[in-house]
Amino acid sequence: LGRHKNDHRPTHFDYNGVRFGQDTLNVFAGLCAVDTLEHVELMMQALRDNGQVCTRMGAYKPRTSPYSFQGHGKACLPYVFELAGKYGIKVIAMEITHESHVEEICEALYRTGNSTGVMLQIGTRNTQNFELLKIVGRQQDFPVLLKRGFGITLDESLNAAEYLASEGNRKVVFGLRGMKTNMADPHRNFVDFAHVPVVKRLTRMPVCIDPSHSVGMRAASPEGILDIVNATAQGVIAGANMILVDFHPVPGKALVDGPQALLIRELPLFLEDVRIARESY
Ligand code: PEP
Repeated sequence: LGRHKNDHRPTHFDYNGVRFGQDTLNVFAGLCAVDTLEHVELMMQALRDNGQVCTRMGAYKPRTSPYSFQGHGKACLPYVFELAGKYGIKVIAMEITHESHVEEICEALYRTGNSTGVMLQIGTRNTQNFELLKIVGRQQDFPVLLKRGFGITLDESLNAAEYLASEGNRKVVFGLRGMKTNMADPHRNFVDFAHVPVVKRLTRMPVCIDPSHSVGMRAASPEGILDIVNATAQGVIAGANMILVDFHPVPGKALVDGPQALLIRELPLFLEDVRIARESY
């Protein structure tokens, strides 16, 4: 992925008709966690109506508390994939936390006719789960979104990406999602989108920004701190190639991270802001 001096292979790739590279920009707006079939359908319908072919849908949710909603897991996959096919969604970013999840996704894709594709997401809690990285690296069918680890160095996170590549999977997107700090920050995490050009210079991976998990709240405060839309614009102007962003039809009813979800009716405005920011890149 760029860390081996003698390796000059490009890392752009095409997957299910969508191109990913350091020169493209793909928006993955969607549900942080799948909750109901109705919400999945409303989201996908809005994406189709706004010309989008990618989304994020969480089925397996790594939660801080074991008592919090853990995601519907494989039970929701059939209707998620069927609705994706119905609304022309080509790629779904979906976090996995265990190798069995890859098998469950493969089986559900097969049963529902395989028209949609899945980008396997490795979340910040698993950035250095080397055995999981090796397993995902060995399968070549799916691209991978690897999030940076929230409490490790950038170099350590980039080496984690090499675990995927060294096992054979070079379809890797690197995700910036904010860092934990021990200071009283106004955001959920320290927004790290200044690292977009750094990662692009150090590697050949496309770089994703996750403004939702970085900023952690949908509305700008009265003090005017950076909100999700502004953070997105910063990341896009810095050269981001992918945006993972939480939306929800009724954020108050979301089972995970409702406070950071944008409203579905805000999707056209959000996409327009992204377009304008991209023009400034
Ligand atoms: C997510 O994208 O749903 C998520 C949990 O992200 P992270 O691993 O960055 O916390």
